[in-house]
Amino acid sequence: MVIVMEKGHTEAQRQAVIGILTEFNLKGHVSEGDTETLIGAVGDTKAAREYPFDSLPGVCSVLKISKPYKLANRKFHPDDTVIKVGDVHIGNGFLTIIAGPCAVESREQMLTIARAVKKAGAHMLRGGAFKPRTSPYSFQGLGEDGLRILADAREETGLPIVTEMTSPMQVDLMVKYVDVIQIGMRNMQNFELLKSAGRIGKPVLLKRHQSATIEEWLMSAEYIMSEGNDQVILCERGILTFDKEHNRNTLDISAVLAVKKVTHLPIIVDPSHACGRREDVPALSRAIVAVGAHGLEIEVHHDPDKALSDGPQSLYPEQFERLMRELNIISMAVEGGGRMLPQLMAEKAGEEIGIFQD
Ligand code: PEP
Ligand code: MN
Repeated sequence: MVIVMEKGHTEAQRQAVIGILTEFNLKGHVSEGDTETLIGAVGDTKAAREYPFDSLPGVCSVLKISKPYKLANRKFHPDDTVIKVGDVHIGNGFLTIIAGPCAVESREQMLTIARAVKKAGAHMLRGGAFKPRTSPYSFQGLGEDGLRILADAREETGLPIVTEMTSPMQVDLMVKYVDVIQIGMRNMQNFELLKSAGRIGKPVLLKRHQSATIEEWLMSAEYIMSEGNDQVILCERGILTFDKEHNRNTLDISAVLAVKKVTHLPIIVDPSHACGRREDVPALSRAIVAVGAHGLEIEVHHDPDKALSDGPQSLYPEQFERLMRELNIISMAVEGGGRMLPQLMAEKAGEEIGIFQD
């Protein structure tokens, strides 16, 4: 339920509405937009549904919300949420590129890749220190040593760092080292983890599970937001396919359009895990920008044959640099799409390149 306040309503009238919601054990979530003020009722609204909120002074109308996600719902918050991480913006009007290796493997590896993606114009640096692997015998990540290396890479390049949290026991480490906390596909419905991540107060990048509906995904965002953290970045990364011969997953590009309609949260896309193949990443990336996503997360490795995870899908730094120029051009052509600012300016894109040929 959303209570739409009249223009020019008084603070006392607003507080009266919030007071009545409290009596029904509901929290009043105020959203002040450019044109109107909304008070969203958060909690179990069943008992309050019959209450005549629309006859209270200062109230314009009452909207019923049929979807189970409330804080993530665009009806609760009509304006797009733009998340700020230092100087980097994620959300409407921006095209934010997160790049780096799948996993932090060593200081030398991470710094080499960090310098390369920075040079190419990436806005944030990724790298896993805790790796959720299908096999317990595969490389599990460097743990805190990996986070220290990431922090050093941030120090040198100025790029904020994005890394995965896999357990509520990692809260202190996330507080200490990380700028954006990634929740991986496998943990999308690990509700205790979502609550812990939500309480940290840093932006959370929430990947969609490979078999989750958009509603399930947004309910996971709701878990994070219900802890008082509205800084959630959604990330589509491919859904299960029946045709494994041609694709590891199917990249659900239409999810970007669906998500933009029903939620105010930013939506980025990861083409690397969707296809699992380096040669497909550039073309998918171009499509992601063209469809109007707010950003991409792309795996890059300087020596992918020796990578400890996801080498076959990692771009070489030169490929990534070229892709960045292409994405900049596409971003300028897409109506309503984001722009790569400020690292990769239009003039750079004007350099002679044979685009769209790989
Ligand atoms: C990753 O980003 O390296 C990763 C493991 O992604 P996902 O959770 O989407 O599989
Ligand atoms: Mn990976």
